[in-house]
Amino acid sequence: MVKVNENYLKLKAGYLFPEISKRVNKYTQANSGLEVIKLGIGDVTEPLPKACIDAMSKAINEMGTNNGFKGYGPEQGYGWLREKISLNDFISRGCQISAEEIFVSDGSKCDSSNILDILGDDNLIAVTDPVYPVYVDSNVMTGRTGETLKNGTYQGLSYLAINEDNNFLPEVPKNKVDIVYLCFPNNPTGATITKKELKKWVDYANENNSLILFDAAYEAFIQDKDIPHSIYEIDGAKNCAIEFRSFSKNAGFTGVRCAYTVVPKNISGQNSNGDKINLWPLWNRRQCTKFNGVSYIVQRGAEAVYSSQGKKEINSLIDFYMENAKIMQNKLRSAGFKVYGGDNAPYVWIKVPANMTSWDFFDYLLEKANVVGTPGSGFGLAGEGYFRLSAFNSRKNVINAMKQIINI
Ligand SMILES: *Cc1c(COP(=O)(O)O)cnc(C)c1O
Repeated sequence: MVKVNENYLKLKAGYLFPEISKRVNKYTQANSGLEVIKLGIGDVTEPLPKACIDAMSKAINEMGTNNGFKGYGPEQGYGWLREKISLNDFISRGCQISAEEIFVSDGSKCDSSNILDILGDDNLIAVTDPVYPVYVDSNVMTGRTGETLKNGTYQGLSYLAINEDNNFLPEVPKNKVDIVYLCFPNNPTGATITKKELKKWVDYANENNSLILFDAAYEAFIQDKDIPHSIYEIDGAKNCAIEFRSFSKNAGFTGVRCAYTVVPKNISGQNSNGDKINLWPLWNRRQCTKFNGVSYIVQRGAEAVYSSQGKKEINSLIDFYMENAKIMQNKLRSAGFKVYGGDNAPYVWIKVPANMTSWDFFDYLLEKANVVGTPGSGFGLAGEGYFRLSAFNSRKNVINAMKQIINI
């Protein structure tokens, strides 16, 4: 019989969102017809920007003509899109990232997992706790961890707790780790990192020859001037960091699918002889072999994000979600909750009342307010005692959800 990849058997069964659905379904069925407001899953709700729709419609029509038809595109993405990304997202912020260093893809979720293809199996890996589960699970699946421990963590991974005590900023490890995943603005806590704090990580990585995998999926939600949008705003980051960006949250492309990864030309690792090996050619090779590019239509849609109309429309989408976050912060605080996040990210992170676990609080909100959120413990051990609410929803749902919470 065929042998399976036993690493998959170590995974905690896709526990979080199925468990949420189970509890919600049980509750709504027992209270027939009852509507609950879902502020749980981190997916956008508002329609696509018109600039993107127009660009994609035009591209579809082009594809229907002899002159405009396109087959396979470059695996790295079309040059015109990579140029726009380089100029608008990097050069304009003083980061010298060239079009060649940008690899367009169909999502940051896949990129942040696929990157392991070009990295050795025996690297020491650190993640924050709580964490975006993709980083952990992709390491488990590829055999980079040991067994699952009783408390739900994996042997061999270093967990960097982020909580109230450290202001949701992971402390630079005392020991040497080879790879560290950082996500700022953070999902799930909504926390951000200043240039000064991020510099500590870049310095650590350069001193230890470590690699930072920096996920900036939420950079568009940043409101404060001194918070970096890209890790390349920090001196030295081009030698130690790969950055993941996505059009999912800024332009609402979660169902369209487009993202990109920045692999600087001069970033390197080593082989077992200790020779320096550049990562760019490895990632280029990986993409050329295993990926055939993002559709022309979608890339035209992504390009429109950088048009003046696109920028305006995206700003108003961000403003809309951030106004939701503001409403949530204000109402939750007036109801007596301790609330974090929500200033530069579309998530608010609530401290649950002292006598409850994250799951107790989930049931409490569901039953008393008919509001669904995400238990912090689902994102890691150190998420216990916290609860995530997403600002991705209609204004009406956000206002009603807050009313129902206040009226408990
Ligand atoms: C939503 C999200 C992404 C984006 O993933 P895509 O595959 O590009 O949709 C990346 N990282 C984090 C932490 C996210 O929450």
